[in-house]
Amino acid sequence: MNISFNKPYLTGKETEYIRQAVESSKISGDGMFTKKCHQFLESRYHFKKVLLTTSCTDALEMAAILLDIKEGDEVIAPSYSFVSTVNAFVLRGAKIVFADSEDATPNMDTDQIESLITNRTKAIVPIHYAGIACEMDKIMDIAINHNLHVVEDAAQAIDSYYNNRPLGSIGHLSAFSFHETKNVISGEGGSLVINDDKYIKRAEIIREKGTNRSAFFRGEVDKYNWVDIGSSFLPSDIIAAFLYAQLENLDKIQLKRKAIWKSYYEQLKPLSDLGHFRLPFIPDYATNNAHIFYIVCNDAKDRKGLIEHLKGNGISAVFHYLSLHSSPYYKDKHDGRNLPNADHYSDCLIRLPMFFELSEVEVQYVVDKIKAYFI
Ligand SMILES: *Cc1c(COP(=O)(O)O)cnc(C)c1O
Repeated sequence: MNISFNKPYLTGKETEYIRQAVESSKISGDGMFTKKCHQFLESRYHFKKVLLTTSCTDALEMAAILLDIKEGDEVIAPSYSFVSTVNAFVLRGAKIVFADSEDATPNMDTDQIESLITNRTKAIVPIHYAGIACEMDKIMDIAINHNLHVVEDAAQAIDSYYNNRPLGSIGHLSAFSFHETKNVISGEGGSLVINDDKYIKRAEIIREKGTNRSAFFRGEVDKYNWVDIGSSFLPSDIIAAFLYAQLENLDKIQLKRKAIWKSYYEQLKPLSDLGHFRLPFIPDYATNNAHIFYIVCNDAKDRKGLIEHLKGNGISAVFHYLSLHSSPYYKDKHDGRNLPNADHYSDCLIRLPMFFELSEVEVQYVVDKIKAYFI
């Protein structure tokens, strides 16, 4: 049996909606399907304002511009994350002050944040790893007490909740990804969510190359002009057409992914109880959106052995992030603190195949091969 790590799921409507977009002769940004996606996300998750972007990376770059991040500013972010989470701020000249992961989850350890704040700190950027919420009340309280902004990297967190509040609706700004490896996809794609009214107008300008073109098309100004810095962050309506077909099927996608996740969890629980590895931990305040199914091996040697064993059986299971504080680009800029939990997840976490079309038989096969490795 050959089981890939990921397989993009097509709902069947994508090409039909793309055809409609093409035939409407309006295939640049902010066409009919972009508006449908905005409305869907705003009404389902009570986001104040959604703007589709060409990627989550772009949405994070917009966030860094919106917060006026400048040379010398500091941004607190987890080391166990994707480069885009921090690159967006580094591009504006910020220094990244890395937080360690919690012991129980790869998410940032909120107990550390306060000690990392200086008078140069401008923002905290938590990521909800595997779509499992960070401890947002605590992060928001710290941010409010110190007058900081919070940007949620919600790239993996569609349709997941923190104490009944949708992820992405809590920070001042947040960013989602619709990359083909995520739950809901458009090939490449993302969105910026703006939960603080005061950023809405400027976000539209930054997204439209620094012009007030959006206001012009709404008839609010009679010419459009260069009014700020910006770039071309908006996707073609062809991308939005694809995305809309996915969003319409969000509940179906989530139901299936959660069933796969649960099946892995239940079947692997006995092995985990024997101490062979750790299963994902979901705190009481968090829901699971079944974005990733991961296990944490006891050491790097076990992980390497297991990945090779699975590969030998046709199964593609993969490790994930390498701690950013010790990356070739940042290790000389990092302040030297050890971040042992981030390193542990870097060395020991494995993601198992997880996609819509993964069958129960395939899950069983993966579980059997993991059992065979340990027992
Ligand atoms: C996928 C991902 C990104 C980047 O998303 P793109 O849409 O590919 O730019 C950023 N942060 C995290 C945590 C991610 O998982």
